[in-house]
Amino acid sequence: MKRLSIGVRLMLWYLAIFAIGEIVFGASMWLILRHNLYDIVDDGLESQMEDLKNFLEAQKPNATVAKLQEEVNETYAIEHSGDFLQIHLETGDLIYRSSFLEKHPAVLMPPDQIKRTIFRSRKVDGRHFRFAYEKLDVNGHTYTVEMGVHAGDAVATLQLFRSSLLMFAPGLLLVAAVVGYWMSRRALGPVDALVKTAHEIGGANLGGRLQKLETGDELQRLSDTLNAMLDRIETAFRRVTQFTADASHELRTPVSLIRTEAELALRRSRGEAEYKESLRHILFEAERTTVLIEQLLAIARADSGRETLHIRAVDLRQTLTHLVDSWKQVAAIRALQFSASLDDTNTFVMGDETMLRRLIDILLDNAFKYTPSPGSVWLSLEHRGQSALITVQDSGVGIAEEDQVRIFERFYRVDKARSRAQGGTGLGLAIAQWIVTQHRGSIRVQSRAEAGATFQVELPTIAAPAQNPAASVAK
Ligand code: ADP
Repeated sequence: MKRLSIGVRLMLWYLAIFAIGEIVFGASMWLILRHNLYDIVDDGLESQMEDLKNFLEAQKPNATVAKLQEEVNETYAIEHSGDFLQIHLETGDLIYRSSFLEKHPAVLMPPDQIKRTIFRSRKVDGRHFRFAYEKLDVNGHTYTVEMGVHAGDAVATLQLFRSSLLMFAPGLLLVAAVVGYWMSRRALGPVDALVKTAHEIGGANLGGRLQKLETGDELQRLSDTLNAMLDRIETAFRRVTQFTADASHELRTPVSLIRTEAELALRRSRGEAEYKESLRHILFEAERTTVLIEQLLAIARADSGRETLHIRAVDLRQTLTHLVDSWKQVAAIRALQFSASLDDTNTFVMGDETMLRRLIDILLDNAFKYTPSPGSVWLSLEHRGQSALITVQDSGVGIAEEDQVRIFERFYRVDKARSRAQGGTGLGLAIAQWIVTQHRGSIRVQSRAEAGATFQVELPTIAAPAQNPAASVAK
């Protein structure tokens, strides 16, 4: 079943609460009015009862029953106050009974049930009465008195009040329904506007935003929150689009170079040396493309959160010692000085050893790439308090200050041609920074143009483990 709209539901709730309120209010007012009206009637009865008591007191204490009957008859039979009166003596002798009560004895009570004053409403022949039942102790006698009065006016007033309530109730409910619906529409109107705008926002116009509300209520908070979310989605979306565009561009360059090289080689026959040269170029570009694709995959995996790190206690000194050997060979090939200074003490961090090796490789690779021969590259590891400090320093081309903030961005290269010629992709430092962040560390650069560069990575250390257990596998 289709659910009712919030507006209609609010209106129905409002209506239900209003109806309950109206019923409770009406019933309370009716009960209060009834109580007050009967109070007035009962006051009248009480004063008549007082008159009767005074009258009985005025009788001789030793008067006979017959005498009493005579006296009461004389006084009350002719007055209307005796129309609904019955008096018994404790002996059971009847002193007085009006003709009305002769005809309608049902309104009376058995005398033994009357212990204190009781007031009762009675309906006889379609007329409303109020009766008081009381025991009067007078001159050593106990009289059981039952006295009634007309309560028609009180009942008529009550009925009028009730029918007025019933007559106005539907009208009031209708007004409440209309007001309730209007209020809910007014309150929820901005929601419709938000929904309409939200519908219009899509991939093609992610810049669209929900209308800014100044209501200072939940709706304003909702629209502000949704707009902030749209900001984040737009940023992420633009990042992905930019990344795809940059990646395609980066991939196109080596592929077209490979193609051009092959086309040129095939255009006419050449000597073996020329073919070899062409193949070397093609191989270089193919290798570069392979590195690029691997790095693109690494970044895509990192972005999607699917890159799994195998975290365990890693002895950085041992890891770096292994790396130093292979980089010494690179240094020899490139005619560069390479020296490493690693702290004597073991330095343990919780991390993924493969990733940490990759991090140092990226920094050393850059140092070698951007340091022309003759030049030097230094690697050091220091244990400082709770952190391990890895420093990769070179005496190369350096990085101007304005570029230092951007070199960690994807595809950012200070000198595109130089980076390309060195087989760079512009992704190395972005990956390095991701690895450092995953290890809860930090990376910073100090450099000046043409004055070498120093990259420093700081990672939190742990105490040396008893053995080297695989701690956990985390993302
Ligand atoms: P690339 O593959 O181009 O080296 P990176 O992301 O590793 O990409 O580095 C980004 C840019 O930062 C490089 O293109 C280079 O201009 C600059 N850079 C990085 N390391 C150094 C360094 N040690 N010396 C000078 N420039 C560097």
